[in-house]
This record gives sequence, C-alpha cells and structure tokens, in this order.
Amino acid sequence: MRQAAALCRIVQARYVPAADAPQSAAGAASKPGAEPVTLADYGAQAIVCRAISRAFPDDAVIAEESGRQFEELIAAADQTAVAALVSEALGEPARVADLVRWLDHGQGRAAERTWVIDPIDGTKGFLARRHYVIAVGVLRGGQPAAGVIAAPHYGQNGAIFAAQNGAASVQPLAGGPARPIRVSQRTDPAALVVLESVEKSHASRELMAQVRTAAGLGAAPVIRLDSQEKYACIAAGDADLYLRLPRLHSARPHMIWDHAAGTAIVQSAGGVVSDVDGAPLDFTQGRTLARNHGVIAANPRIHARVVQAAQSICL
Ligand code: AMP
Ligand code: MG
Repeated sequence: MRQAAALCRIVQARYVPAADAPQSAAGAASKPGAEPVTLADYGAQAIVCRAISRAFPDDAVIAEESGRQFEELIAAADQTAVAALVSEALGEPARVADLVRWLDHGQGRAAERTWVIDPIDGTKGFLARRHYVIAVGVLRGGQPAAGVIAAPHYGQNGAIFAAQNGAASVQPLAGGPARPIRVSQRTDPAALVVLESVEKSHASRELMAQVRTAAGLGAAPVIRLDSQEKYACIAAGDADLYLRLPRLHSARPHMIWDHAAGTAIVQSAGGVVSDVDGAPLDFTQGRTLARNHGVIAANPRIHARVVQAAQSICL
C-alpha cells in the first residue's frame, strides 16, 4: 500500500497540474498521452497485485483494471512510462510484461478469500489535487472481513487505515506505530458531523438533506470528501454519518471496490454499514452491489435513526 501510494503521489505531483498553475508550468511537456489517473491506476494496481501474488498466490482478486485492458488500450510509450513509475516506487526494475501479469493476477478465479481492489478511488479528486485513496478489501465467504485504505491526503502527511478480526487501526502513511481506532458514540445533533461526496453527480444532495432533516440531524455540519476516506473518517470517529443516496432514476449500480475496504474498516471499528433499507451490503453479486440501494455508514447510536428517516423519504 505504501509503495502504491508513493506511485500515486509521484504521478499527482508530477502530472496533475495545480489549479492555479499557469498553463506553461503544467508539466505538459513531460506528460504522456494517457491521463495521469490512468497511469496511476494501472501502476498502483500492479504494485498491490504483485504483493498479493507473492503472499497469497492462490487467492482470488476482483479489481477495477486488467492486464488485457492495459495492453489493448494503453499506447506502448505509456505502458513503458507506467513500468518506469512502478520501478521507481518499488525500488527495483519492473518490465511491461511483469505489469500485465501482476494486473491480471487472481482475476476470474474463485477462492475462499477474494481481494477487492480500487487502485485509485476518487478519480475526480485525484485529478483536481483533492483527496483520493487506494482501497483494498478482503472478502471471506462473501463478507468484508478485512480492509486497508491508504489515504495520502488524510491529516498532515497521510495515513493507512487497516482492519481485520474486528479490530481497526491507523498509522502514518510513512510508517510508524499503529493505534487502534473506534467509531464515535455521539448522538447530540449539534456535535455530529456528516460526510458526503464532493461530486454532485455521484449522489443526490437533495435527498440526503431531506433524510438528515427527517432524522433530526438538520443542524449537523456536512463535509464533502472524495473517496472511501469517508469510511475511514467514520471508523476513526472524526465523523458520524456517511450518506450516499443515488440520484433519482440513476441506473448506475455501486461497484464493490468502492465499498469493500471501507465497510470492513467501519464494522471493525464498531460502526454499522447498510443500504437504505437497513440491510447489509451484499458482496456476493459479482462486481456490483446489485441487491442494495444507497449506503448508510454511521456510528451505532445514530444508524437506526437514519435508516428510519431514509425509509420515510426514499420510498
Ligand atoms: P465518491 O468520491 O465518494 O463520490 O466516490 C468515488 C466513486 O464514485 C468512484 O470510484 C466511482 O466508482 C463512483 N462514481 C463515479 N461516477 C458516479 C456516478 N455518476 N454516480 C455514482 N457514483 C459514481
Ligand atoms: Mg472508486
């Protein structure tokens, strides 16, 4: 995770222009043809899958990208650029052929453990120099059993959140001691903090405001944050509710890699994650959460109240 985050940081700093940068200073001369996020997506997934292939060679993987796509969609010069970035992050040489092999590792296979990978969650945040994470969840028997989220923009210097066996922790991205985290137990609406997507198109702000009001949380401040860093903030007790209600008539399903790691970490920290009906997210339906509508992740003392409010609005 640390190596993948290093690669993403390098790409974001080197290829994503700052919002206030003059056009000429945007690094266009050194910029490969593919989008920076594309390079970082493939690079980060290759690094994570390489590690999984070495430590757990027989496990299954469901990941956003594939080696075949990398070979078919990415120009040869960009493939070489990704290999150079991966070599830089690993501190040892990696060839394009290695990347293709790592990217496909474990995909299309069934096993007791399935690793669910979003190499860059929060693509739009990454491209706007806002927040993004690298998210890796582990399903065991279809249940989110463990997860790791590397959040390069969390706090001062970034953090890695991790959970397994019902215990969740955070440590500095650069390394150092991990400390346990727990969700908050706050119930006073004046003290609660609510999280939602930055991107307007990703969820219905109107419906979410209606649900908050119906739950008596109309006074709680709303913070907008990209990616599964929202789940990490709930797990760490920084915030109390992450609400994600699809816009009316949206046919876009939720993808499992946008929720697997976050769900494992919030649940391990004592929080509750469900859909708008209060049902657990069902990770057994392939690449999407086909059986669920919306997501409500919250501290255990307010979760039921929010589900009840959503029921009164969303139907
Ligand atoms: P967030 O920053 O929490 O909105 O989450 C980012 C994730 O939203 C991405 O990884 C996408 O899978 C997902 N996403 C992208 N476009 C949409 C959309 N139009 N509606 C809902 N989710 C989306
Ligand atoms: Mg994502």
